[in-house]
Amino acid sequence: MPELPEVEAVRRGIAANLLGKKITAIDLSLPKLIEAPPGMSLDDLVDAHIVDVERRGKYLAIGFPEVVAVLHLKLAGQVVLRDSQGGGFSAGHPVPAFDAELPHKSTHLVFEFEDGSRLYITDIRHFTRLRLMPRDDLAAYWVDTKLGPDTISDDFTLESFRERIKRRKQARIKPLLLDQGFVAGLGNIYVDESLYRAGIHPERKAVDLSVDEVERLYHAIVEILEIAVPIGGAAILNGKATPEHGVFPFIHGREGEPCLNCGTAIIKTRVNNRGTYLCPECQPAHEPASID
Ligand SMILES: [Zn+2]
Repeated sequence: MPELPEVEAVRRGIAANLLGKKITAIDLSLPKLIEAPPGMSLDDLVDAHIVDVERRGKYLAIGFPEVVAVLHLKLAGQVVLRDSQGGGFSAGHPVPAFDAELPHKSTHLVFEFEDGSRLYITDIRHFTRLRLMPRDDLAAYWVDTKLGPDTISDDFTLESFRERIKRRKQARIKPLLLDQGFVAGLGNIYVDESLYRAGIHPERKAVDLSVDEVERLYHAIVEILEIAVPIGGAAILNGKATPEHGVFPFIHGREGEPCLNCGTAIIKTRVNNRGTYLCPECQPAHEPASID
């Protein structure tokens, strides 16, 4: 599922390749992908050029002079740009393969630009959404999303993380980190990676975490994203980690493989019905030193 690193890869790809470029044609084959207020449609983007692109959490706002198109890739959205010189970028869900022939049968939206490049939005699960709105409405839209601090922004500080955890003491730590209102951008993969790096069991309650553990968790989140963002995200196919980025991801998608720290077999369990990977040695269910 595309999380912050994958959506950030889309943002960087658009920023590097498409700023200032005008859309000349649009092909939509899945109408429900578009959400728009009355009187507004994809036609409003024809002959418009991209002026800016901003990401918050897993939302991407693609700006045009009058309109903003907010993209959310949900479970399986993929964005691929191909230009006439064989360049471009690919990001998001890895199925279909990034080098597959496009449009794929699950390509629902294609933007064609004045220089002949094409941006393909493909989603085998059909949950991706592109919401159109007047530019002036974007600020209010961000407020409505109720997103917590974006985990690679300056708003994500150790102090703010500590304060927010204090307010959510009864929550279990993995569901809390998945809550986009708590922190924005993390999903199932990077939460597992962060908790493993910090040595914290995903089902522990926030209230039981020591001061040191909260600090370790904060730094683990920052470090995991520092690894994942430059490479455009973890390479996981059909729930299994692939060798594309070596040992990264370190735990997600690696059931039965030895833990890199201690050699214990990595287990897969479920937390709030989400497939969850952990090392039973490095991430004990209860902190041994805790006092009940
Ligand atoms: Zn271990």
